[in-house]
Amino acid sequence: MVRVAVYDTKPYDRQYLLQAPGSTALNWRFLEFRLTPQTAPAAQGAQAVCAFVNDQVDRACLETLARLGVRLVALRCTGFNNVDLGAARELKLAVTRVAVYSPHAVAEHAVALLLALNRKIHRAYNRVRELNFSLQGLVGFDLHGRTAGIFGTGKIGRIVAQILRGFGMRVVAYDPQPDLGWASQYGVQYTDAASVFGLSDVLSLHVPLTPQTRHLVRHETLALVKPGAILINVSRGALIDTTALIEALKRGQLGGVGLDVYEEEEGIFFEDLSGQVLQDDELARLLTFPNVLITAHQAFLTHEALTDIARTTVANLCALASGQPFVEGSVLA
Ligand code: NAD
Repeated sequence: MVRVAVYDTKPYDRQYLLQAPGSTALNWRFLEFRLTPQTAPAAQGAQAVCAFVNDQVDRACLETLARLGVRLVALRCTGFNNVDLGAARELKLAVTRVAVYSPHAVAEHAVALLLALNRKIHRAYNRVRELNFSLQGLVGFDLHGRTAGIFGTGKIGRIVAQILRGFGMRVVAYDPQPDLGWASQYGVQYTDAASVFGLSDVLSLHVPLTPQTRHLVRHETLALVKPGAILINVSRGALIDTTALIEALKRGQLGGVGLDVYEEEEGIFFEDLSGQVLQDDELARLLTFPNVLITAHQAFLTHEALTDIARTTVANLCALASGQPFVEGSVLA
């Protein structure tokens, strides 16, 4: 029976992994702390580890895992920017991910942030609870007829574009690998990155974090953005230079910012720190803006997405046990 050490386990991870087909054939060890070079020894005796977005799967961590006899790192997420794939290949450690799970979950969360921010639902909710029924300062704008700019028209970006087309928005997009057939079907116009920044009333980021996309939103690109535009990021925090974002917010240049991810979220998001002093000054500053709405990396958190994630992850773990090929499209190393 393959023994699996699951790092950074939350109750919903355990529930969905244990419900997935094939899970009873695995020997589970659920750990509540993240995978780092320091915690890798806790995988002692396991043949596989299951890791998540903020685990630190660098060379030192992988060397320890390989030394312990671990053969597979099964990521229960799509993004893999936190894994040193070169080191994994050298160490002959297989790495898999969940390449596809409900993209609707993530896309719908991006739109939820946009609607809430634009119509100031987060502020209205708090006001009404305090019996403050004033509408002062809650003016939004019709999305209908405005322009949305989508960076990355992969699985998630496309659905966001399609939803926003449904609202009657004009949609422009940038992707180095455009899909012209899809764009003409849904009335989306591809253009260059600078034009997407300059034309859009709503900007939404749906690109993976790579050296090329790191700080896609920075001083130079923020200078191109229309005053009052709303920026949404449900992809990866480091797509935005947080210092530059805070400066743009202080200047009043942006109408709103909706974030489900944050550059320095590791060790903060997914945790209950409500009884502690927040040590991250930039996050503390972001939380003071009335037009910034932050959720803690929850865009994937739907029943459908958790079911898909658990199903693929367990299938890959079972494939290790049986010597069968891993799920198609999930192999990274
Ligand atoms: P995908 O691979 O289907 O699409 C990514 C698209 O980005 C591709 O079309 C690619 O060509 C394009 N791209 C690459 N570099 C670009 C650039 N410089 N500019 C513009 N486009 C570029 O990925 P996906 O499934 O749509 O997911 C997108 C990202 O969303 C993931 O990489 C992940 O980081 C993030 N994500 C977040 C959550 C969450 O819970 N918040 C959940 C899932 C995924």
